[in-house]
Amino acid sequence: MKITDKICIVTGAASGIGREIALTYARAGAKVAIADINKAAAQATVDAIAQAGGTAMAVSMDVTDEAQVNAAVAEVVDAWGGVDVLVSNAGIQIVHPIEDFPFADWKKMLAIHLDGAFLTTRACLPHMQASGRGGSIIYMGSVHSKEASVLKSAYVTAKHGLIGLCKVVAKEGAAHGIRANVICPGFVRTPLVDKQIPEQAEALRISEDDVIRKVMLKETVDGEFTSVQDVAEIALLFAGFASNALTGQSLVVSHGWFMQ
Ligand code: NAD
Repeated sequence: MKITDKICIVTGAASGIGREIALTYARAGAKVAIADINKAAAQATVDAIAQAGGTAMAVSMDVTDEAQVNAAVAEVVDAWGGVDVLVSNAGIQIVHPIEDFPFADWKKMLAIHLDGAFLTTRACLPHMQASGRGGSIIYMGSVHSKEASVLKSAYVTAKHGLIGLCKVVAKEGAAHGIRANVICPGFVRTPLVDKQIPEQAEALRISEDDVIRKVMLKETVDGEFTSVQDVAEIALLFAGFASNALTGQSLVVSHGWFMQ
């Protein structure tokens, strides 16, 4: 159940949840590739890990671009010799009522969340198979992998889709000891959520405080946001779990917003 010396790629690790997962993996002794479209911010995460005595590298990756994904994974393999853990985490949010949802925005959402998960998985799998060490693939789902909310048709569709992809990867990867699981966080205070608060206030014609209390945290058991550390702990568990006993699963970490 250890990830010491494991080679990990975390997409979207320049900010928010991905950044905290990268820091947590590095503290646990893993080598972490920070794969992000925002190169400057990715380098800042690398610097933070290096300052704490860890090992990290930044790779430039737009997860929707097949060539960039393949090149970035190859860069990590060239540098460190393989891939043991993939965290497919990069994501954005775009909210509109369905009747006003621009088709271009719909396609952008599905490309980042679903094409990104597929392309990174496809690029990493052969290296996990070749190493003989197995591997762990972790998808960043959401409570919206299980539940719906108004205005979020593309996000909810994409996040539900990740559970399907995960189950197939779990079945196809089993013979090689490659596990796949989904983390489903509730609302976490990151730039992705901070952007939504004023947008939802305007769309729903309520105050920003009411968006937080009456929309985002209404169904939690204690009115609290999930933290980046909470999510990173689950990412550590999935990354280090050493057998196929834990595969094809989706784990909700949401202060009880969604109970299975
Ligand atoms: P964030 O905005 O803080 O970070 C997202 C990161 O993804 C950024 O570094 C950004 O540069 C990167 N990114 C965006 N598009 C990219 C692309 N095409 N290629 C590569 N990198 C790209 O967001 P966050 O809140 O940390 O979200 C991370 C993941 O967690 C997302 O998949 C999101 O849907 C999911 N999630 C977030 C919450 C939440 O409440 N914050 C809840 C559940 C799930």
